Amino acid sequence: MAVSEPSRSRDLDKLLLRPGHIIGPNFEPGPELREAIKESVKVLVVGAGGLGCELLKDLALTGFRTLMLEDVGKPKAEVAAKRVMERVNGVNITPHFCRIEDKPLDFYSDFNIIVLGLDSIEARSYINGVACGFLEYDSDDNPRDETVKPMVDGGTEGFKGHARIILPGTTPCFECTIWLFPPQVKFPLCTLAETPRTAAHCIEYAHLIKWDEVHSGKSFDPDNPEDMQWVYSEAVKRAELFGIPGVTYSLTQFIDQLEDHPRLLLTRVSVSHRGKNLYMQAPPVLEEMTRSNLDLPLFDLMGGISKDIVHVNGMAAKVTRSNLV
Ligand SMILES: [Zn+2]
Repeated sequence: MAVSEPSRSRDLDKLLLRPGHIIGPNFEPGPELREAIKESVKVLVVGAGGLGCELLKDLALTGFRTLMLEDVGKPKAEVAAKRVMERVNGVNITPHFCRIEDKPLDFYSDFNIIVLGLDSIEARSYINGVACGFLEYDSDDNPRDETVKPMVDGGTEGFKGHARIILPGTTPCFECTIWLFPPQVKFPLCTLAETPRTAAHCIEYAHLIKWDEVHSGKSFDPDNPEDMQWVYSEAVKRAELFGIPGVTYSLTQFIDQLEDHPRLLLTRVSVSHRGKNLYMQAPPVLEEMTRSNLDLPLFDLMGGISKDIVHVNGMAAKVTRSNLV
């Protein structure tokens, strides 16, 4: 037999063709495994940022041939897919771009593995919900293999990061352990600048990025109504541009913040302005009477006064994710 050139998958073969000390119980090494990775496994990579691009390249080099890359940004997804295909022979990467929430659910049913390279907890929580939604159990209450959508959750948050495998029905899912995350208050700048998904992203963009662009050197003064108004109108513009509803500081958002604020963690919140009750969470009769105010902007409830004192009462020490840690 002629000596052939070393195969392109020489290093990979060491992992895939022979057993080792750290393999799982269902790992069956051999050429079939290598072929399956190459021919029939479809992987979805969500996120084409710093983490997603790296993952895409690694998956391509690991021998996966059918990859789908999903990102909100068209240029990012396209460029990443094109570059990796140029560099790794035989890999086929289809870029997709839209907000992940806009994809129909059956889009996800096609993939054998979902790999997450996302920064936001919200987005990861969404994909987790979708993937767990496919899970079905057999009559003995065991997860049916063909409905298990394994996820590799890689996440970065500022300078922190982690990776783990989620097997719906077997391991805890993303939602089961969401209380392990500290409350998310800061947004990564790339999300703010390129792919806002929520009203908060738009407000932070106006406040953190746009302000400096326009007011060179002048610092933002939260006590100055003019400054606040400027940020507000920039945020509204941005929200309109990206089709995001809700850049009005509603009473609901205000109460949510009180409940989630790590120092406050209030329950049974009541909010009043100049002696008028805007909302009371308890007792139920008063809750019902004041409930309709929840959807209104605080600005309107306060009679169009942009700066004033609002009184808040409530009970502290609610057990939430942040004081369980
Ligand atoms: Zn769970």
